[in-house]
Amino acid sequence: MSTELYPEERSDIVVIGGGPAGLAAAISLSDAGFRVTVLEQAPEAVWEAPSFDGREIALTHHSRTLLEAAGAWERVAPDAISLLKEARVETGRGHHPLMFHAPSSQDEPLGWLVSNHELRRALFASARERNGITLCPQSRVATVRRGQDADYVHVVSSGETRRIAARLVIGADGRFSPTRRRAGIGAIVHDFGRMMMVCRMAHDVPHDNVALQWFDEGQTIAMLPVQGQASSLVLTLPPEETSRLLNMEPEAFAADIMARTDGRFGEMRLISTRHVYPLKCVYAHRFAAPRLALIGDAAVGMHPITAHGFNLGLRGQETLTQEVSRAAERGEDIGALSVLRRFERRHRHVTMPLFAGTNGIASLYTRDGLLPGLVRRAGLRAAEMMPFFRSAVTRMLTDPEETPAAHTRAARLPR
Ligand SMILES: Cc1cc2nc3c(=O)[nH]c(=O)nc-3n(C[C@H](O)[C@H](O)[C@H](O)COP(=O)(O)OP(=O)(O)OC[C@H]3O[C@@H](n4cnc5c(N)ncnc54)[C@H](O)[C@@H]3O)c2cc1C
Repeated sequence: MSTELYPEERSDIVVIGGGPAGLAAAISLSDAGFRVTVLEQAPEAVWEAPSFDGREIALTHHSRTLLEAAGAWERVAPDAISLLKEARVETGRGHHPLMFHAPSSQDEPLGWLVSNHELRRALFASARERNGITLCPQSRVATVRRGQDADYVHVVSSGETRRIAARLVIGADGRFSPTRRRAGIGAIVHDFGRMMMVCRMAHDVPHDNVALQWFDEGQTIAMLPVQGQASSLVLTLPPEETSRLLNMEPEAFAADIMARTDGRFGEMRLISTRHVYPLKCVYAHRFAAPRLALIGDAAVGMHPITAHGFNLGLRGQETLTQEVSRAAERGEDIGALSVLRRFERRHRHVTMPLFAGTNGIASLYTRDGLLPGLVRRAGLRAAEMMPFFRSAVTRMLTDPEETPAAHTRAARLPR
């Protein structure tokens, strides 16, 4: 691979945005025989070795299979991969939890946790090895012009404008995607009015690889088990409370978190930087336009509560690669709207029910008051009494071939 800027003026496909979804797409499409150029706004050093951003990504079995095929999984150090054996969901205080276990027939965990920056680094390293991929750091798209057989992407880099012709442009530039806006594609935006603070905490009481999702009055706490007797804390709060916590000294912060978690993890210690994300979810009105496809968060920016965002991003790029490859085999134009609509239909079918279901659950669980509290408890109790609910969720996480339809039904049940 060459990391020179714009060694080619022509590519089969231009991917705008070199985040995890864009890089995964570039790898899959390159392995399918296409020449791919990836445009990323970050400088090369940041792109190649991103720093910790607080996110721990819970990966399904299918995602692991896709990351293995992309050559990225093997690049994640074993001590950066944490096993997720069970998940425990609680609402309020002193109520019976809802447990999710891996099926006893399989000697497999429910899933795996890997830090987002580790995934980005591994995907970048894997993309860099491929001759069919040209990586262009520090690049910003100025405009995209329509031609007869190609689109022309005008890119500005260090004050210089270049032009790259491509039969297909992929927007993978995150949930506020400039590519989506430039194409005039609107989006459903759901603002939960809350912030999510994420960081790593060491603690005395072992987590036993069990994830905790706790919907408490006024706050939602997740503790995701990572290696080294530590957990990733995910705390959802109103914005003003988040900034207060963000500015606390580490010792005072740890004491606050110990009180919030009722001391159930014993002594706690802050062992990472703290990061804050606004809780805004996005669903693009369309994922396809002539010579344009949207993937990753640019298409569907999920609420992190059900840990689907990147898993769906990986799935979307897989579907797009399948449709574009089939089109090429049939001699069709890979940027034709008819081809991209097939990707859109399949990806909407997978994502729309999950987006709606997740937002419904998230709204219910972030609203305080007596009625939402009662509904939450009733929901958990009902879910517990329905073994198929738990087995559907578990199957979705552990079976690499499982279609998300089962999970879709499951996501609706406890409401
Ligand atoms: C707290 C938190 C926890 C999460 N937990 C999970 C989880 O457990 N499981 C899960 O599956 N998902 C999870 N997610 C979601 C997951 O992080 C996202 O879905 C995923 O990172 C999206 O990847 P992406 O490549 O689409 O977008 P991004 O990661 O946003 O990447 C977009 C890239 O495009 C670049 N870019 C933007 N604009 C331009 C431009 N104009 N030109 C060039 N480049 C541009 C950016 O620099 C960036 O590199 C979580 C998210 C959060 C916030």
